[in-house]
Amino acid sequence: MKRVRVRYAPSPTGHLHIGNARTALFNYLFAKHYEGDFVLRIEDTDLERNVEGGEESQLYYMHWLGIDPDESPKNPGAYGPYRQMERLAIYQKHTEWLIEKGFAYKCYCTSEELDEDYQKQVEAGVAATRYNRKCLHLSKELLEDNHQKQLPYTVRIRVPDNDTYTFHDMIRGDVTFESKDIGDWVLVKANGIPTYNYAVVIDDHLMAITHVFRGEEHLSNTPKQLMLYRMFGWEVPQFAHMTLIVNEQRKKLSKRDNSIMQYMSQYKDLGYLPQAMFNFMALLGWSPDGEQEIYSPEELVKVFDEKRLSKSPSMFDKQKLTWVNNRYIKEMPLADVVALCKPFLQKEFDLSSHSEVWIEKLVALFHDQLSYGHQITELAALFFSAPETLEEDAKEALAWETTPVIAKAFIEYLPSEWTVENLKLAMDAVKNETKIKGKPLFMGLRAATTGQCHGPDLMSTIFLLGKDEVSKRLNQI
Ligand code: GLU
Repeated sequence: MKRVRVRYAPSPTGHLHIGNARTALFNYLFAKHYEGDFVLRIEDTDLERNVEGGEESQLYYMHWLGIDPDESPKNPGAYGPYRQMERLAIYQKHTEWLIEKGFAYKCYCTSEELDEDYQKQVEAGVAATRYNRKCLHLSKELLEDNHQKQLPYTVRIRVPDNDTYTFHDMIRGDVTFESKDIGDWVLVKANGIPTYNYAVVIDDHLMAITHVFRGEEHLSNTPKQLMLYRMFGWEVPQFAHMTLIVNEQRKKLSKRDNSIMQYMSQYKDLGYLPQAMFNFMALLGWSPDGEQEIYSPEELVKVFDEKRLSKSPSMFDKQKLTWVNNRYIKEMPLADVVALCKPFLQKEFDLSSHSEVWIEKLVALFHDQLSYGHQITELAALFFSAPETLEEDAKEALAWETTPVIAKAFIEYLPSEWTVENLKLAMDAVKNETKIKGKPLFMGLRAATTGQCHGPDLMSTIFLLGKDEVSKRLNQI
């Protein structure tokens, strides 16, 4: 078998989006599974959409996720350049060849003329409007004249009249398109820059790409690309068009959908773990054989099987995302979780009166339930100030007639030597004295000290709140 070579080909238009990250990931998993190469190519021909730093950002977040390319503009291999804008001379050479062979032609139509013709077609009820081929048969003299006058032109492909393009998609099976449904499309724009469908074919061929995993929005581009492969007489790579990612309402994920965070930068900033994101995204449109859902990157490379890519849209399940992240955090040594959480705590709260040991104990209290670093600021907020608004159940518990009795008694028994053990003894003493036990005792005390009815281990919570704060809060009951 030929050495497997795949590519991820983003346009440098911004941070790494979840859809693109998934595309990159599946290309990576496939390449590594077959011990092949994973190439990053920057498709920067749409100059208006490029953003400053877009390429760096893509590479940065790919690195964060642990999917580093084997070849890229930053570490070129033998198939460079890896930015399309640095390949213009290569495209030009191919364009000349296509024109010479009659596969493509120069089109001098102005955009006004094109618009006018388009309107005419619309008015005539043409459903699939297309270029009218006015420039297909320009005389040699006219072409020479236009050239002398340096008139701007585009280069159009002469779409073969009655061709059929069938290819075997690794996900969808056989897909067929007819050339008669496609008008003569533009290969090279008037500014000399190739269009996506043109450049991608030349690049994939010259970069020896064997397999293309990309989003299903590119399915309808594939016949345009296939006609070029046929004209050049090149071998066609194997395509796999991955299904859409949809939200919980089964709607296509749009970049404006604020119900889901869509950029890797957002996840990183909130303290999600890259390995967990890697794991979660691998399950977006692919599933392993069996029930296991937690896999390390190395395991995923091993078990990845392109035959198990899904044919139906993959739902972005937020609960699953937090579950997967939580599973990874649970497995981490406490010191690492502390390192993950501390910057978030520092940013949100004044830690100056707290020791490192205290911070460690605080994080330990939430270690098992934490799904991402920033979440610690919500979970631990009660240690930094008494909650201002109370949930209904807490209000209820504070209104029980037993609660002030417990609060009062507990103040009396607050130990001078502040340990969890002594706090347990204090609790027993309160129980004996007041004869209040069970839920009224525990929940009453929890509500009185934390303003909540649920939370981590109560004695450890009271311990971490500290004696002064606890007596202050109890005195207010
Ligand atoms: N630059 C294209 C995109 O970002 C790449 C499509 C392809 O993989 O062929 O969608």
